[in-house]
Amino acid sequence: MFVIEKPLPAITEDGAPYWEYAKKHELRVQRCGACGHLRFPPSNVCPKCLAEPGEWVRLSGRGTIYSFIVIHRPQHPAFQEDAPYNVAIVELEEGIRLHGNVVGCRNEELAVGLPVEVTFDHVKDEVVLPKFRLRSA
Ligand SMILES: [Zn+2]
Repeated sequence: MFVIEKPLPAITEDGAPYWEYAKKHELRVQRCGACGHLRFPPSNVCPKCLAEPGEWVRLSGRGTIYSFIVIHRPQHPAFQEDAPYNVAIVELEEGIRLHGNVVGCRNEELAVGLPVEVTFDHVKDEVVLPKFRLRSA
């Protein structure tokens, strides 16, 4: 039987550190060395001030649901069995917003403002996906 595999993130040169840290269960993003702006997706210049230097800083992994959607009709056939599934925008304590699935709960439990924390999904040896789960406030 032919199985359609889920597409995996493209690991670019700029983004490679993000995925390496995820393998170690660390959620990190770049912080501009000049203005302190936290940025994602990774890039070699700051979108705020165009400075090049930056460092990968570890985030708490804690945040709240800023927004979310529930997908009933996936645009890729490999996600058909997962539907309905959610995709959330999580606002982390550090102020940056990241996308991810909220796992370990029913979609009906989700609400804007609920507290979540990062969890890591070992998809393959090369790919560990940061996701989120509900936490108590
Ligand atoms: Zn900057």
